[in-house]
Amino acid sequence: MRLMSKIPLPPAPGAGHTSLALANSTVILPGGHIVDELDSPENATQWLVSHHLVPEETALLAYCQNQLATLRGNLRSILAARADSSVPELRALEGVNQALTKVPSAPLLRYEPQVGLHRAPQHPVTQLVEHAMAQIAEDAASLLTGDQAGLIARCEATPCNRFLLRTHARRYWCSTRCGDRVRAARAYARKQGPDRAG
Ligand SMILES: [Zn+2]
Repeated sequence: MRLMSKIPLPPAPGAGHTSLALANSTVILPGGHIVDELDSPENATQWLVSHHLVPEETALLAYCQNQLATLRGNLRSILAARADSSVPELRALEGVNQALTKVPSAPLLRYEPQVGLHRAPQHPVTQLVEHAMAQIAEDAASLLTGDQAGLIARCEATPCNRFLLRTHARRYWCSTRCGDRVRAARAYARKQGPDRAG
C-alpha cells in the first residue's frame, strides 16, 4: 500500500478553523489505514505553510513537529469531549493553555568570547512555531466557547475519525465520500434482507 502523507478527502465543514483543521490532520481511512499529515518535520512544515501559519522558508525540526502533534492530540481530546458533551481531560486543557500563553519570549542574554555579552532570540524557528501554535490554540479557545461550539461533531462514518461543524442539522459526515460510503453500506444491508440488515 502506498503511504500517503496527504489526506485524500476535502476539508471537513468547519475546517476554516485552524484548530479543527489541525485536529483533522490525521485520519483513519476505510480499511484502517492511518494518514498523518504531520508524520515528518517536512510534512509538518508543509501543513503550517499551507495554512498560512508560518512563512514558506520555515523548516521545522523534529522538536517542533512533536510539539505540534502534541497540540493536535490535546485538541482532539477536547473536541471529542465537546462533541460527546463529556468532561474534557485536564491534561489536554493544560496543553492548550500552554500553547495559548506561549508568546514569543524576549531575546535572551548570551555571551560569546568574540562578541561579549549580547542578546539574541531563541531558535527563530521555535519562535515561529510557538507563535503558530498560539494562534491555533486561540482559535480553539474561541471555537469551543463561541456560538458554534454546539455544532462540533464527529464524522459518523466509521472508521473516519474527523471532526466537523454540523452547519446544517442533517449533516452527519465530514465529506460526501464518507456519506456515500454509509449510504452504500445501508443499501447493501437492505438488499441482504431484513434479517441481516443492521
Ligand atoms: Zn468522515
